[in-house]
Amino acid sequence: MAKVNENYAKLPGSYLFTEIAHRTARYMEEHPDAKMIKMGIGDVTRPLVPAVLEAMHDAVNDMSTSENFHGYGPEQGYDFLRNAIVENDFAARGVDIAADEIFVSDGAKSDCGNIGDLFDVDNVVAVCDPVYPVYVDTNAMAGRAGDYDEAAQNWTNIVYMPTTAENGFCPALPERDADIIYLCSPSNPTGTVLNFDQLKVWVDYANEHDAIILFDAAYERFITEENVPHSIFEVPGAKTCAIEFRSFSKTAGFTGARCGYTVVPKDLVRDGQSLNAMWNRRQTTKFNGASYIIQRGAAAIYTPEGKQQIEDTLDYYRANARVIKEGLEAAGFTVFGAVNSPYVWCKTPEGMGSWEFFDLLLTKANIITTPGAGFGPSGEGYIRLTAFGDAEATKEAMQRIAQLEL
Ligand SMILES: *Cc1c(COP(=O)(O)O)cnc(C)c1O
Repeated sequence: MAKVNENYAKLPGSYLFTEIAHRTARYMEEHPDAKMIKMGIGDVTRPLVPAVLEAMHDAVNDMSTSENFHGYGPEQGYDFLRNAIVENDFAARGVDIAADEIFVSDGAKSDCGNIGDLFDVDNVVAVCDPVYPVYVDTNAMAGRAGDYDEAAQNWTNIVYMPTTAENGFCPALPERDADIIYLCSPSNPTGTVLNFDQLKVWVDYANEHDAIILFDAAYERFITEENVPHSIFEVPGAKTCAIEFRSFSKTAGFTGARCGYTVVPKDLVRDGQSLNAMWNRRQTTKFNGASYIIQRGAAAIYTPEGKQQIEDTLDYYRANARVIKEGLEAAGFTVFGAVNSPYVWCKTPEGMGSWEFFDLLLTKANIITTPGAGFGPSGEGYIRLTAFGDAEATKEAMQRIAQLEL
């Protein structure tokens, strides 16, 4: 008899977005004329920019002739894209990363999940709380999380590091030694960042403990403040203790097109093994590369026109984030994030739980948000709003909130 991976049976249902959809559908059934504004799910809405589309069209045409046809490409990504990444995302910020430390993929979610292939089941994993659920669930699938405790809403073997207003959204070093540490800056869901000094504490910790930091920089392009690293490799010592995930999804609207990359430095060695060589072995065995057409599109964001065009789209979302932050603050709410992120993390009114506030906004303002509790126990007392929507709808949402009587 085939035996299945029993860890899957331990996973709690993906309750958060199903429950949001369920509550929204029920409300809309009773109020079919309600004009709902979606500020919940973290997906972009603006179209791909012209430079990207043109490059993709040209790449499609390449595929139509035998001279320019592209079959299997390098599993690690085409040199035209890896070199553009090295030059623009790293060298331009004074960070020395080589092209063979860049692994292009179909997105950061797969890489964040697949990276677990390189690690033994016997590692202590630490995550921030609240957290992007992918980090936790993929470790649970691999058997590193222990058992799920329904009452406490956490896994017995995972180290949770609360990030809340009380600690300025910077996790304290864990009491129990952690081997693998996930950090996300700018953070999904809190929209907050780790500045240079805060990140350096973690790099030093990881080097002292021979731990590895898995650094998710999917929202790096939203950083506006100085002194906030765009890459963990801006911090001295990070090359011996960190792997970084990047994505074109939020940067350039690739959530549907699919492209990202992972940086695995050659200096990163544990148990005498090069993590770069291991990831290369893993990718060449299990992955046949991202699509040529999509990689051509991704490379176009590094051209002068492409850079300007994606900046314009990012500015559209940044303006929405400002509208949300200022609108909520004017209505008397305490908010975090937004400045370096498309996410706004809003404190619920005194004494109100995050699902209760979600329901209130749903029914009284017809705005769909995400309850913070869905991202982990320390998310209780907050909701997340996203700046990825339509500008007019975003303004309308803030007017509705201003008129609420709380
Ligand atoms: C959106 C997102 C990603 C990017 O995922 P893709 O698979 O590249 O679309 C990665 N990490 C976080 C935290 C995200 O929110």
